[in-house]
Amino acid sequence: MVVIFEEEATEDEIENVIKVLNDFGFDVHRSTGVSRTIVGAIGVKPDFDHRQIQVLPGVDEVYRVTEPYKLANRSFKPEGTIIDVKGVKIGGNEVVVMAGPCAVENEQQLFAVAEHVAKNGAKILRGGAFKPRTSPYSFQGMGEDGLKLLRKAGDEFGLVVVTEVMDRSQIEAVAEYADILQVGARNMQNFTLLRDLGKISKPIMLKRGLAATVEEWLMAAEYILAGGNRDVMLCERGIRTFENSTRNTLDINAIPVVHKKSHLPVIVDPSHATGIREKVVPVARAAVAVGADGIMVEVHNDPGKALSDGPQSLYPEQFTQMMKEIRLIAEAIGREIPAQSVLEKP
Ligand code: PEP
Ligand code: MN
Repeated sequence: MVVIFEEEATEDEIENVIKVLNDFGFDVHRSTGVSRTIVGAIGVKPDFDHRQIQVLPGVDEVYRVTEPYKLANRSFKPEGTIIDVKGVKIGGNEVVVMAGPCAVENEQQLFAVAEHVAKNGAKILRGGAFKPRTSPYSFQGMGEDGLKLLRKAGDEFGLVVVTEVMDRSQIEAVAEYADILQVGARNMQNFTLLRDLGKISKPIMLKRGLAATVEEWLMAAEYILAGGNRDVMLCERGIRTFENSTRNTLDINAIPVVHKKSHLPVIVDPSHATGIREKVVPVARAAVAVGADGIMVEVHNDPGKALSDGPQSLYPEQFTQMMKEIRLIAEAIGREIPAQSVLEKP
């Protein structure tokens, strides 16, 4: 159930409604919007007569949310969520660009890529320190040393850092060095991991599972939100279909679909969606045109020698060209991609 308060509702009136809901046994989540407060009341009470809340002072509207995702539901935050990470706003008017290598390999590689992407307008540095590889014999990432390098490169070039956390046991270390914690596609329904991420105070980027429906994806986000962490962004990275000419099939429909159903920002990852370097830039253009709040691409200074995902990693010059093109598209739809990172060095 969602309770929308009148614009002029007082704090006492809001508190009173929260108390009444608590007394009825609901779990209450408050969202303070630009002009109004909204309260989500969660609890399975089929016989509850919502008029009991409707009549309370300060209440404007009360209605049932029929979808199973309540806190991720657009009705809980109609104006949309903007996640502010060190001044970089995800979900606002700017289309935020995240870029970096698939995996952190060494300092020279990471710094070369980070410098290039920062100079060309990326705001967020990506790079895996813990890598979920299909084969146990493939490079598994540098682990904690990789996290340290990411932090160092982020600080050096004024970039926010996003990296994957694969397991609950890694949360503490990843949260110490990264600004945003990524949940990989293969972990989208790792519910114990999601629950633990609900308890931390760093933003989470939740990638869509390889065969997950939009509803399953939003329910996975709901786990994190229900734990108390409100800073969740989603990432569409392509799904498994019968088509095998590309690594995955980007579900471009999912972006407007999720924007309608949910208030959470949506990022698009054309690198894992296509798996082929030459397809990444055209698909990134489409992602911006369709309304993605950000895009995440893999870039490598020497893709031919990359330890993982070389074939889908952009050459630095391709990244430069991509930025020029997506900037024009962003402008055409009333959004923006500023020319260069403006983050201050710490
Ligand atoms: C990644 O972004 O590093 C990654 C492994 O992607 P995904 O989980 O989408 O496969
Ligand atoms: Mn990769």
